[in-house]
Amino acid sequence: MPEIRLDNVSKLYKVDKKLKQYAVRELSATISQGEFVFLVGSSGAGKSTMLKLIGGEIAPDKGSVLVDDVSISRFFGPWKVRLARTFGIVSQQPVLVRKRTIEENLMMAARAGGMQRKSQAASEKALGLVGLSGVEKCYPAELSIGEVRRVELARALVNSPPVLLLDELTANLDDDNIWDIMHLLNELNTRGTTIIMATHASQFVNIMRRRVVTLVDGRIFGDVKNGKYGDIV
Ligand code: ADP
Ligand code: MG
Repeated sequence: MPEIRLDNVSKLYKVDKKLKQYAVRELSATISQGEFVFLVGSSGAGKSTMLKLIGGEIAPDKGSVLVDDVSISRFFGPWKVRLARTFGIVSQQPVLVRKRTIEENLMMAARAGGMQRKSQAASEKALGLVGLSGVEKCYPAELSIGEVRRVELARALVNSPPVLLLDELTANLDDDNIWDIMHLLNELNTRGTTIIMATHASQFVNIMRRRVVTLVDGRIFGDVKNGKYGDIV
């Protein structure tokens, strides 16, 4: 089961022809299997960039991201399947293909993880986990926001990954929906899944009392066990 290590990781973006700006800067952290980590900080602080670096969606300009001591940059070509099996990802942007049914969307994700024959069964199972059995034949536009977010979570769960990377999964949801999702994540975490979650849902972060990593201007400003939103010790 993977341990994730960020070793002095920086990512730069071009602002214009001459100027580059750090999205994240000299991040170092170790996340052990089974941890539940809230990633907090204001908009633009670097949360999405940190999640994308961990999931191998973007490569660092400096430093390295290691999964069990192997640098993610070496997971090219066929190793991509290994990344897809290691990380279940919900991005900040919508990811469901609108012209495909929920079932087709999930089966595509299962195939990306190397599954063929069992992709339909895995999709059904994942939808069951998020309490949405029965929406298989629906299209994304036919579901509520809360249901879409849960389908996105199911899509991330379809390969039974050891690690979930969740970017603003709770955005634009009402408290009842957030509570349902937190409950489910807590249960998955109890069964051993690592959860790394960027969120603004401060009241829920404060109730859950898990590790809280706070980013300010691309740097880690706080990293607190059993923390609360805004803890900087
Ligand atoms: P957060 O998720 O905490 O809101 P991000 O990781 O999305 O923050 O962004 C961190 C910084 O990097 C911001 O200043 C943002 O404008 C910049 N940034 C992120 N992605 C890109 C990109 N693809 N191109 C240029 N700048 C980017
Ligand atoms: Mg973001």
